[in-house]
Amino acid sequence: MRTEKTLHGWPYFYCMRKKRNIHVSYGIGIGSGERDLVIIDVHVHPLVSETQILEEMDKAGVDRSVLLGTDTDPLDVDKPEIKEKMRKRFNSSKLYSHPYFLFFHPIEEGVKRFFYALINQYPNLKNSNLDVAELVEKYPNRFIGFGSVNPNKGEEYVEEKLREISRLNLRGIKMLPTLQFFNPSENKNFERICEYCEKNGKILSYHTGCDPGPWEIPELSEDANPKYLKPVLEKYSPTIILTHTGSYSALKPGLWLDEALELGKEFENVYFDSSAASHVIYQKKVVERIRESFGIERLMYGSDFPVVEGSNMQYEVNVIKNCQYLTDEEKNMILGLSAAKLLGLEGAT
Ligand SMILES: [Zn+2]
Repeated sequence: MRTEKTLHGWPYFYCMRKKRNIHVSYGIGIGSGERDLVIIDVHVHPLVSETQILEEMDKAGVDRSVLLGTDTDPLDVDKPEIKEKMRKRFNSSKLYSHPYFLFFHPIEEGVKRFFYALINQYPNLKNSNLDVAELVEKYPNRFIGFGSVNPNKGEEYVEEKLREISRLNLRGIKMLPTLQFFNPSENKNFERICEYCEKNGKILSYHTGCDPGPWEIPELSEDANPKYLKPVLEKYSPTIILTHTGSYSALKPGLWLDEALELGKEFENVYFDSSAASHVIYQKKVVERIRESFGIERLMYGSDFPVVEGSNMQYEVNVIKNCQYLTDEEKNMILGLSAAKLLGLEGAT
């Protein structure tokens, strides 16, 4: 465990996703990569410098990365309805008094500490819409930019952010019901974002499953259960990628896999990435279920770099390359062909 480095008294592993469970970190298996296929990483956070991201991509043979912005405000947790929801969920969890989660007591303060630790851990963090657009402008052949909109702000704020996303020519929008404290079936602004994406051909990268820090408590991540998307998707049809396929969780890997696959079966505009959940998804049974229910072409490679402890882009690429349950054609679709199609990059890579 990497507990040696602390920032303002905060062990930095609170900001990392844990590969298996919160007590164990894993070794990295690295193989060699061929250069005959297009690899697109649909899930990268610009938390470290662009040089580090590009180096990481080169090591893994990744041609292009989708950089995801995040528009979130830790102080939203002080809104009475959010505070009440968070407290209720945290207090109802069996994990409430687990030593790991004592750091997050009381939950509204714990959430704020999580964000401050994140900022301290990643001083080069560049995840505003403008930051992401600048990175894309600098490396147009390597980066694809997705912005983000905080859905807890007023209607005017949301409209301004949507105009900003159009103006900056960002290709999609990243939304996280966890770190942005919202339930998609109860949030009007989220509906508006879905409508905007549908009308403007933007792709929604939507977080499903648990998240680092306090959100490793499944009750606290409840809003990120894919089932809550159903009412919105019955109204609007944005192209939506369910990141982690509802499966990321250190404590309960695969927790909402069923709900995610169910949504994929019902809506043909629903896609998936395997970031932080490759150990769940690339198993024989799961691969077969995906193949039979809607097809491997809707599953895409994502690394979640740099936030998964014990993992990196190359590791995740190799998990797919070495998966014995996929055909070569399917591996190529997952690693880049499907993303190229979705992002309109065919022929451009
Ligand atoms: Zn992520």
